[in-house]
Amino acid sequence: MSECLFCKIAARTIPATLIYEDEMLVAFDDVNPQAPTHTLVIPRKHVVSIAELHDSDVGLLGRLMLVGNKIAQQKGIAGDGYRFVVNTGVHGGQSVSHLHLHVLGGRHLAWPPG
Ligand code: AMP
Repeated sequence: MSECLFCKIAARTIPATLIYEDEMLVAFDDVNPQAPTHTLVIPRKHVVSIAELHDSDVGLLGRLMLVGNKIAQQKGIAGDGYRFVVNTGVHGGQSVSHLHLHVLGGRHLAWPPG
């Protein structure tokens, strides 16, 4: 079994509030929410970051975004707007080395990010 935290969540060996899953992706609420809605969408397969994706992953990337939209609708934030964030690498602020899309909303989000 992988030592990756998000692989373990996808495999249900570590508990999380799963709110969506299909054959390719899993979504669960962030344990340390930065907004009233803060959900993470991850691929089941272990991909370290968006920088590791290849042309052949275009389907996965598209699904990631579309499931993000689905989560926004499900959480009731689609009307007022929301933000997708994909932190990548050290300067990008990535703390978990498994690709994840943050879906944030439910309040006005500041710009630029810190
Ligand atoms: P990032 O900093 O972009 O790598 O985001 C990692 C995110 O994972 C952070 O927002 C954490 O709060 C979140 N996180 C870490 N551990 C867990 C967990 N066990 N369940 C849900 N979210 C988690």
